[in-house]
Amino acid sequence: MQDGQAREIKYLRISVTDRCNLRCTYCMPPEGVRPLEHDQILRHEEIIRLVLAAAAVGIKKIRLTGGEPLVRQGITGLIRELAAIPQIDDLALTTNGLLLPEYAPELLKAGLQRVNISLDTLQNFRYTLITRLGKLEQALAGIDAALQYGFHPVKINTVAIRGFNDDEIGDLVAMTLDRPLHLRFIELMPVGVADGWARSRHIAVAEIREIIEKQYGPLRPVRRPAGYGPARYYTIPGAKGTVGFISPLSDHFCHQCNRLRLTADGRLRPCLYDTREIDLRAALRRGAGTDELAALFRRAVLLKPAGHSFATGWPDERRVMSQIGG
Ligand code: SAM
Ligand code: SF4
Repeated sequence: MQDGQAREIKYLRISVTDRCNLRCTYCMPPEGVRPLEHDQILRHEEIIRLVLAAAAVGIKKIRLTGGEPLVRQGITGLIRELAAIPQIDDLALTTNGLLLPEYAPELLKAGLQRVNISLDTLQNFRYTLITRLGKLEQALAGIDAALQYGFHPVKINTVAIRGFNDDEIGDLVAMTLDRPLHLRFIELMPVGVADGWARSRHIAVAEIREIIEKQYGPLRPVRRPAGYGPARYYTIPGAKGTVGFISPLSDHFCHQCNRLRLTADGRLRPCLYDTREIDLRAALRRGAGTDELAALFRRAVLLKPAGHSFATGWPDERRVMSQIGG
């Protein structure tokens, strides 16, 4: 369905849990966030009903995120049901990868074809510093498992942070040389707990690209691997993988935004930066049928703002990134 700016909205990101086995510094406070009560979180059958309603207004792509989606109980069963919905032609998962060695075979069997894994550094000490709880070897084992079990494409999300990983950009890119990994540098966003310090640590993608080209020579533009996202992709001649750039700050991509976001407690957000949430959980639990739910999706599409400005600061005191679903 088209919104007021003639953008085709076909992508729904679903946060399936607000819980996480990590506490990344740009995403959550050190003590974590108070988890939602069990009955506040959408049940599997509620998520399926919402996806059916979303499909009725033209949603074709679903990404499961969180929090960490793989800590949600029964995630494989949910994926199996989502994969069986004929209107959904792309089902993806964003994960920190820690549980992938355990879950990869069953996820694949359930019908998941591709994964995005978050990894900001290749240094042990730094990995534990940024995630507060994780070990680098766990994330690397997750990436190995994703490749070994044949997920395709396997994308790596790397948040570029000045003074933290800007001296590792070349090493991270080297991961794409001999393995089919699609590494995407994402600009750090002043969202949630990162509002306030993200600007001073921000690195524009133009600078990241310059650093890469100084080491590897000119990047060659390539067709994007499967996906509906805003990244632009390049390759180093001879490499098996690609390097992509996502620039929410330095090159606003709002004009091509095609997504809605559903929080773990069933609120539909027209935009990451828009606090006007529609309470789908309440509608579900008072017995709304597919038509009524589809009308609420339509309302969210029409509410989508033309764009947002990070300049005004994070507008939502109640929420951090892990609760909305980054
Ligand atoms: N736990 C999963 C993971 O880390 O991949 C999924 C949820 S996490 C919120 C989704 C993505 O949001 C991750 O790639 C993470 O790096 C990114 N993210 C979180 N906070 C961010 C911020 N302030 N700026 C840019 N990206 C951020
Ligand atoms: Fe957890 Fe992902 Fe947030 Fe890190 S970025 S704390 S792994 S939800």
